[in-house]
Amino acid sequence: MTDEARFDTLPADANRPDPDLPASDLIMGIDLGTTYSCVAIVQDDFPKVIASGKGLRTLPSMVAVDEKGRLLVGEEARRQLLINPTNTIYGAKRFIGRNFYSKEVEVLSKHFSYAVVPIGEMSAGAQIGERTFSLPQVSALILNELRCNVCEYLKENVSQAVISVPAYYSENQREAVRQAGRIADIDVVRIINEPTAAALAYGLNRNFDQKLLVYDLGGGTFDASLLEVYENVFKVISTGGDTFLGGVDFDDRVMDFILDSYEQAEGEILQCDSVITQRLKEASERAKIDLSAKHQTSIDLPYITVSSGKFKDFQMELDREKLVELTEDLVDRTIQVCHEVLEAARAQTGDVASVILVGGQTRMPMVVEKVSDFFGKAPTKGVHPDEVVACGAALMAHSLGTEQSVRLIDVLPMSIGARQPNGKSKILFEANCTLPTDREVGVTTTHDDQLAIEVFLYQGESENAVENEFLGAFVITGFEKAAKGKIKIVAQLKLNQESILEVTAKNYETGEPLHVQMIVRPPVALNDLTTDALPATTNDESAGEIETPQEKTKSKRFKGLRNFIRKISD
Ligand code: AMP
Repeated sequence: MTDEARFDTLPADANRPDPDLPASDLIMGIDLGTTYSCVAIVQDDFPKVIASGKGLRTLPSMVAVDEKGRLLVGEEARRQLLINPTNTIYGAKRFIGRNFYSKEVEVLSKHFSYAVVPIGEMSAGAQIGERTFSLPQVSALILNELRCNVCEYLKENVSQAVISVPAYYSENQREAVRQAGRIADIDVVRIINEPTAAALAYGLNRNFDQKLLVYDLGGGTFDASLLEVYENVFKVISTGGDTFLGGVDFDDRVMDFILDSYEQAEGEILQCDSVITQRLKEASERAKIDLSAKHQTSIDLPYITVSSGKFKDFQMELDREKLVELTEDLVDRTIQVCHEVLEAARAQTGDVASVILVGGQTRMPMVVEKVSDFFGKAPTKGVHPDEVVACGAALMAHSLGTEQSVRLIDVLPMSIGARQPNGKSKILFEANCTLPTDREVGVTTTHDDQLAIEVFLYQGESENAVENEFLGAFVITGFEKAAKGKIKIVAQLKLNQESILEVTAKNYETGEPLHVQMIVRPPVALNDLTTDALPATTNDESAGEIETPQEKTKSKRFKGLRNFIRKISD
């Protein structure tokens, strides 16, 4: 098996559904979470969370190898995190679909005790012990475990799923989740945004005609989405978030405080190896969670270090007020995002009829208080923050297989733009545009006798294209040599419901269809560029004057970076 192919399947020692089980056409709903994942199905028209054989309703999103090199997934992996942190992968959702060489991966990998390594040209992977896993493979192991639980429960082989992802996920991240499904032999019939899933679980068949705001603060990410709900239509009006804000940031604040307190009390810095760091992280998270229910907690760290040949303990008290002081700015950042989400939709707090809290971190009293203060009303009760997303995904899955009409109307979370020769980004699809959507752009040659035009696509809001996330590129060929600027091409870009991009192109003068090919390699340094051209007429008015007969054009589908890679290597 080649190195690349090794990452396209589940490891040989992964759990598998019993091969003798009869096939099922049921579609499960999976919430693939940063810290915990959850699976639900719909039975008798109600969503039901499927617990593991041991009765656990959520599965830690962790993969580990033990000292004998054996694979551990979920709860077993979590149990060994404390003693073997460098061999336990957690938080993979924060890396998945990201370029290994990106700033985000550089920052994130400093926070994790396992080794983040490059795989192939630019993907990030995780190395634990002697074994290396691609991140889609790590997610595939989680998906597979949840699937096995469902198969075991139903005594049927379920192989289709609707999987939820943060609304703020880029196209590359979504594609990496689809790839995880393929690795786990699960047919991902639909990717659904987590807030939409939460809204569905709350509002389906309730005859609402109102605006809902889903506030989702989980382990690693924050999302806020404003939705309009009417007659089982769930329309996202605007969405925003921060992929670097979640429960772990609260834990980090507590951990820094413990370290400072230790230094003050002991007059020396606590030297941390990976096991001590992990113990501190656990103690910080435990204290934070405790303080959601109590006003005061004690942090006990027996045998935390050795001094003059003797084990030393450390103990301190932490109260809710101090926790608020340490973390208030994090919650304020989420409120600022809510403000921006409303502003983008030109809505006021008073327009929001219900606020739904999702994610474990929303159990913190300060979060509930600040959200209530901002919206002028208490969040909706009766929604289980850990299970609501999986239940919504299951309801979506159920509606796909029945007559029930549920319509989801989503928006693009971040703008997609083309890089112009001056390095600036020309926005083709603006953030929060409703999906599906399409744009026509004019493209022209910038050199005499040019035979190919490459258009590099990036996702993000920076006006400098390279500061955004590189999505891929398309190359247009099949036109005659001519003086620069003579060749005029109309490219039609269509983004479907799941924001998969399809590109077609034709010669503007003759209507002749042109060849469109996707490429994967990241663009070379700007001044090396010889072939890329900017869309000449990318504003909507001028693009609107150009007609592109669909049937005449050749089309290529863009399914994110991963598929580009596959195409290239075919
Ligand atoms: P999720 O990704 O939705 O599973 O959220 C996990 C995050 O929620 C972790 O950072 C947990 O520490 C945090 N969390 C879970 N329960 C509580 C609680 N009772 N109070 C505060 N944070 C919590």
